[in-house]
This record gives sequence, C-alpha cells and structure tokens, in this order.
Amino acid sequence: MITFAPGPSKVYERVPTYFHDAYAQGILSANHRSEVFMNLYKDTEEVLKGKLKVPADYKLLFTSSATENWEIITQSLVSHSSFHIYSGSFGKKWFGFAKHILETSEGLVLKPNEEINVQELEMGESHDVVAITQNETSNATQVSMETIKAIGKKFPDHMLAIDTTSSMAGIFLDFSLADIWYASVQKCFGLPAGLGVLILSPKAVEKAQALGENGRYNSLNFMLENAANYQTHYTPNVLGIYFLNRVLHDIQPIEKIHEETESRMKAMEKIIAQSSSLDFLVKNERTRSRTVLGVSGEEKFIQQVKKEALGQGMQLGSGYGSLKPTSFRIANFPALTNEDITRLSQFLKNY
Ligand SMILES: *Cc1c(COP(=O)(O)O)cnc(C)c1O
Repeated sequence: MITFAPGPSKVYERVPTYFHDAYAQGILSANHRSEVFMNLYKDTEEVLKGKLKVPADYKLLFTSSATENWEIITQSLVSHSSFHIYSGSFGKKWFGFAKHILETSEGLVLKPNEEINVQELEMGESHDVVAITQNETSNATQVSMETIKAIGKKFPDHMLAIDTTSSMAGIFLDFSLADIWYASVQKCFGLPAGLGVLILSPKAVEKAQALGENGRYNSLNFMLENAANYQTHYTPNVLGIYFLNRVLHDIQPIEKIHEETESRMKAMEKIIAQSSSLDFLVKNERTRSRTVLGVSGEEKFIQQVKKEALGQGMQLGSGYGSLKPTSFRIANFPALTNEDITRLSQFLKNY
C-alpha cells in the first residue's frame, strides 16, 4: 500500500537502513550532553543549511512538532501580539493558540483562491509579528515567496513567522525573507512523526533574548542556551534527529528537489485540467500549493475514486475538515518516487 496522504506521509524507503545503523552505532543510547550527540546536532545544522540553502548565521532548534512551535513563537518571540493571515485550518489553529496566550492577537481570513493583497494590507503598531502559513495543507493553498517578500518590505519593523510544515524540504524557500521558519519531519522530510524544527535568524534570536521570557520547559531562551553548545534542554528525540541527519545527507540540493516537485505537480495538474469529472480544489494557480494537490468533485464520485484507488493499493489523502466528503488530497512529497506518482497519474487519467 502506498499512501499519498499529506502527513503522516510515505517515509523514505531507506528509513529501515537508517534505523539499523543508528542501533549499530550506539547513537540511540548516547547521552544528549555527550560529544556524540553534540556532533550529531552540529552536523545536522550544517547539512540542513547546505542542502536547504539556509543562511549560515541562522540557528536550528529541535522541538517536538509544528504545534509546539506555535506556542513557542507566541510565548517567546511576540512582545505585543501577532497578526495572522490565513485561509485554512492550520493557520486558524495557529491563530487560536496565539489568542489563548495573547488575547489581542488578530486574524485576517482569506478565501482559498484569494491572494494576499499586500498593497491594501493594513496592520497596527500593536502587532510585532506577522504569522503566515506558507503552505496550508488543509485546503492545498500556498503563499508565494514574492508575496512574503512584499509583506516584509512593506512592514520592515514586523517580524515574519512562516509555517512551512508541508513545504520545507519540498520546495525552495528563501530563508532570508523572514526571521522565523518551522516545520515538522513527517511531511516533506519523509520521516516518521515526532520531531519539529524551528529555524531562527540572528534577529529572532536577539529578540528572544531581549524579551527574556523564561521558566517554561520550552521557553526559547532556555532552548537557545542549550543549543549554543549543541545540546537540547531535555532528552531529545535522538532517533528522529539521527533520521533527519541521514535524510539531509542523502537528499539532493533543494534547487533540484524543487524542480522535481514542480514538474511532478505540473504533470498531475494537466490530468486534472483534462478530466471531465475531477476539478481543482484551488482554482487560482497563484494560490495553489506545489506540494499538496487538492482535488474536488461530487461527493459520491470522490468516495468512489478513493475506494477504487484503495483497491489498487493507493491510499489518497482525505479532504480536511468540512472538505472531507467532496475532496481528496495528494501529497507531492519527495519521498514518493516518480514511479509512485506515475502510477497514481495513470489511475487518475481514467476519470
Ligand atoms: C501538519 C501541519 C501542522 C501540524 O504539525 P504537527 O507536527 O502535527 O504539529 C501545522 N501546520 C501545517 C501547515 C501542517 O501541515
């Protein structure tokens, strides 16, 4: 069975080898204050920067999930409140977590086919962080790098925080455009769930230090103090970090992955465009995700397609929330091979 669900998603076929190596090398029992772990952390940060083109002076931190990053950002990096621009469920959840901590957090809701109108975007002085879900997995939309750049240019005093949970390691991200980036590994990194990454610019690190928030188990300053020595503030998910290290060493540079992602998505889009019964969940090409394809159709028909796919050993991702009955989602993540995508494409051509 191949799963095309957009997270948890298909893991790299090399994962069993990684696991075997981790066991054989004794890394699983290594103390997180030991040289062995510190070297693993350091090497993972270096290889991440090299493969994903992250600026050399940015800092990599390990967390448990993207969800934890939502809370860390509001706790430790927002001084007044954040301004959330979103169109789907993950962006909405992030906004919910922020409001729970800082009641004055505000949200701007977009329709899935609606681009952010940067020219008309207004934000008060009371907000110091802009929260953007670059790839909204729930409704298969995206925010382009151009738009993020334009927002940063218009609001130079605001710090941008970007949720790239289902796009980091799948498409090229220009990390210089924002100070706070995060993801978790069960999407485009092709790994089992249970590890989040938080990537901060020097400006974000300075801001956390200036705000001085401390005392919680995941207070950013506590994490940063440990990270300065390539250690973590609690016994971490060493296996997950080891997997991440190995995957990063094995994958191609992000420009190459980006090309693959794009050409595979284009091929699938062509099939949907030619289909008489399947339609794009997101009609606007400019807001359509490159790593998650949303397909919509009549309820009965969607259920039939999903069932027939299952019969052929392919599990399609269900629609999210209220979109569940009338849509399905396909992950276009790098761990899915070209053969997997071709097989699915051949199947979809029948509709
Ligand atoms: C999956 C996902 C999350 C949540 O990730 P967890 O690792 O489960 O916390 C958040 N944001 C987006 C855009 C996602 O796709």
